[in-house]
Amino acid sequence: MSLEVTCELCPRGCVIPEGGAGDCRIRVNLDGRLRATTYGRPSAVHIDPIEKKPLYHFRPSTMAFSIATAGCNLHCLNCQNWSLSQRDGTEMERLYKAEPADVVAAALQEECQSIAYTYSDPVVFYEYTYDTSVLARDAGLANLLITAGYINRKPLRRLCQVIDATNTDLKAFDDGFYRRVTTATLKPVLDALVTFREEGVWVEVTNLVIPTLNDDLAMIRSMAKWIRDELGEGTPLHFSRFRPMYRMRNLPPTPEETLDRARKEAMDAGLHFVYIGNLMGHPGSNTYCPRDGSLLIARTGFRVTENRLTTDGRCPQCNEKIPGVWQ
Ligand SMILES: [Zn+2]
Repeated sequence: MSLEVTCELCPRGCVIPEGGAGDCRIRVNLDGRLRATTYGRPSAVHIDPIEKKPLYHFRPSTMAFSIATAGCNLHCLNCQNWSLSQRDGTEMERLYKAEPADVVAAALQEECQSIAYTYSDPVVFYEYTYDTSVLARDAGLANLLITAGYINRKPLRRLCQVIDATNTDLKAFDDGFYRRVTTATLKPVLDALVTFREEGVWVEVTNLVIPTLNDDLAMIRSMAKWIRDELGEGTPLHFSRFRPMYRMRNLPPTPEETLDRARKEAMDAGLHFVYIGNLMGHPGSNTYCPRDGSLLIARTGFRVTENRLTTDGRCPQCNEKIPGVWQ
């Protein structure tokens, strides 16, 4: 009798022999049952401004209790959390013990307004994310899924019932890039973004711009048009600056002009809120009114320095409704 199990969580569909692990390292077959070894065992716990996720249109100036476990179902050459994501739980120096109720209690104790499932990828610690989110919602906390979105539709729909907002990486609008740089594929990520929208989750998108690999302006334009058509013109898009790391130290940091050109291209394609991240003091980190251009929210780094929105999320000059969750 075979005790193989198939993990149906992500598009890899790993067939895992007894005693073995999936591609993510942390979803294992124990006696014919699929388990996530990192359930209740986060390896990273931090309190971050929500702007760091980045989420710019969801409860600005609040703090997010942020957790992650080891493991990931992507293997990006430029991973900035590789010491967390490319390991299984047993290799970690730091391994906390925190059941879902402990996480919620700690978030409340620290006066956070949300819990962020982040850093590596919450897709692989799905059950931990789900159970914690259920309790968090009962306690009045919001749930933030910071992910690469490489997940099958069925489990994602279930998770969306308890998730309030996502920042999903769209790493390139190019399947070849996905295969070469991340070992994943593009289509499931696009499907995930559409699923979030359909399920009423607040969506922001991050695109890390890497010199020579995904900085082609025609591709960026196509990506922006897709976001406009499938997710809506009010979807915030964050262009993030690449810094050389992990297995991609051979490329330079993204030049500021490249980010400026990408932002202009995306706005020309019809997106109203296009941001530049990882670049201190750039005006592209502020929110401007799409109707009259006035400054609505000023940010420096991860800090909101000024918020002129009305309490119901409108431009104080022209009364334009700014999409987001502002309360
Ligand atoms: Zn206005």
